[in-house]
Amino acid sequence: MLLARPRDLGDLVSMRRFDGRSAAAGLTPAGADYLTAGPHEFLWGERSAELTAAMFALQLHVFTGELREVRGGIGRFVGAVAGDTPVRHHVEVTAVHPRADGVTVEVSTGLPVTARAAVLACPADRAAALWAEAPLPVRSHLASMDHSRIDYVYLRTRTPLELRAEGRPVGMEVVTTPEVGGSTLGGVYVANAWADEGGLLLVTAARAAQAANLSDDELADRLQTDVEKLHPEVVGQVTERVVMRHHPYTPTFRPGSVLRLEQARAHLPHGRIDLAGDHMAAPWVEGAIRSGEQAAARTGAALRA
Ligand SMILES: Cc1cc2nc3c(=O)[nH]c(=O)nc-3n(C[C@H](O)[C@H](O)[C@H](O)COP(=O)(O)OP(=O)(O)OC[C@H]3O[C@@H](n4cnc5c(N)ncnc54)[C@H](O)[C@@H]3O)c2cc1C
Repeated sequence: MLLARPRDLGDLVSMRRFDGRSAAAGLTPAGADYLTAGPHEFLWGERSAELTAAMFALQLHVFTGELREVRGGIGRFVGAVAGDTPVRHHVEVTAVHPRADGVTVEVSTGLPVTARAAVLACPADRAAALWAEAPLPVRSHLASMDHSRIDYVYLRTRTPLELRAEGRPVGMEVVTTPEVGGSTLGGVYVANAWADEGGLLLVTAARAAQAANLSDDELADRLQTDVEKLHPEVVGQVTERVVMRHHPYTPTFRPGSVLRLEQARAHLPHGRIDLAGDHMAAPWVEGAIRSGEQAAARTGAALRA
C-alpha cells in the first residue's frame, strides 16, 4: 500500500484496487486495532473492519508530516471560492426537476430557480431524496452511503497545555480500542490555536464507549476524568466544557463502495444534474473540494457538447 502512490490524494477512486477488502483484512483483531484503528476511529468514527482498505491506503499518503490547519477555519476557503457568486443562505432545496434545456429547482422560500444545470452538493441521503430519477448506479451509490457519528467535549483550559511524546509536541493523541478498557476517552486533539485566550482541548469518546447512551453531563464528566488521568497537568485547568455530537459525521466507505462510486460517476452528468460532496470522492475536505471540481468539469463539458 505504501508503494501504491495515488494519482489523486483527494479521490478514493485512486485506490480502487484495494476496495475489495476491509482495512483490517489480513490482520488479527488486535493488530488491526493497533495498526489501523487510530485514524479510522478517531477521524472517521468507524472500526477498521467496517472500512474499505482503499481508505487506509489513501490515508497512508494523505496523513504525512505535521498536522495542518486553515487559519480562521475552513469556512474561509468556502467564502473565497464563492467570491462574488450570489449565494442564498438558509434556503432549503425541496425538489429538482430536470427539463430538456436545464433544471427547475424548488426552494423552501421564494420562487423556483431555473438554471442550465444543477450540481447537488449535499449529503448522499439528501441527494437521493431530491433526485429520485437518478440512474440506477447513482441511486445504488447514494443508497449505500451511511454515516458515522462522533461525540466529544471541548475543554477550555486556563493556560494552553501542550502534550509531548519523547520531547516533541503532539497535536493529536489516539487511544486505540484495546487501550480504552472501561474508560471513555478515544482521543485528544490539541486545539489551543482555536482559543482567543487560555487553551482548548478537543476530547473525543471512543466508539466502544457508546457515548450516544450518555447524557451530556455524564459524557463531559467521564471525558474530563479520563483526560486528567492520562495527563495530570490538566487537573485544575478546566474552566468550561462544551459537549458536541455529530450524527451524521462523515460518510462511511465500506468495502466495495469505491467501485460502486466509480460506476456512479461513469453515469454523470445525467441530463443536466450532477453530484458533489465528500461522498463523491473521499470523506474529508480535500475529497469534498475534489468532488466539486470533478462535477464542475463534467457539467461544463456536457453544457459545451
Ligand atoms: C465535527 C467534524 C470535524 C471534521 N474535521 C475534519 C478535518 O479536520 N479535516 C477534514 O478534512 N475533514 C473534516 N471533517 C469532514 C469535512 O467537514 C467534510 O468531509 C466536508 O465538510 C464535506 O463537505 P461537503 O460539501 O460534502 O458537505 P457539507 O459540508 O456537509 O455541506 C453540505 C451542505 O449542503 C446543505 N444542504 C443539505 N441539504 C440541503 C438542501 N435540501 N437544500 C439546501 N442545502 C442543503 C447543508 O446545509 C450543508 O451546508 C469533519 C467533519 C465533522 C462533522
